[in-house]
Amino acid sequence: MVPGSRTVSWLTVPFLQPESSGRPGRSPGSVDYRFARRQLLQRYRAGELDRGDVCDAQLELMRIAVNCSQGSTVPCPVCAGSTLRVVRFVFGARLPAGGRVVNTRAEMRKLAAERAGRRCYTVEVCTGCRWNHLLQVAPLDDDG
Ligand SMILES: [Zn+2]
Repeated sequence: MVPGSRTVSWLTVPFLQPESSGRPGRSPGSVDYRFARRQLLQRYRAGELDRGDVCDAQLELMRIAVNCSQGSTVPCPVCAGSTLRVVRFVFGARLPAGGRVVNTRAEMRKLAAERAGRRCYTVEVCTGCRWNHLLQVAPLDDDG
């Protein structure tokens, strides 16, 4: 597991918090972790990290990726397979401590309308090799 990971109690899903704190995203209040993702992949490709260091999705996250996610349009950056999935977790008031997995825009809009200040964590997970990385954290009201 990459240093800085944090485990969420309800699902014990580790969100791989990159070592950097991310960069401001395109919309106000969002944080983009794609730069940290690139850095991590560069370290893996340079041999500084083993495959086990970067392909460490826990079983619960794998289960969610298989059952409650959307397909990605890009291949997995590690195994190049077409098994990359995008999982969205919503955190905030009146939601489970481990967040709620959300799979549709309609559900996302409903959660946003219910209560302000909720945030969506977008995570990519490869069901082939267990690669996983946090891509973005954004306010839910973004409709992103
Ligand atoms: Zn993969």
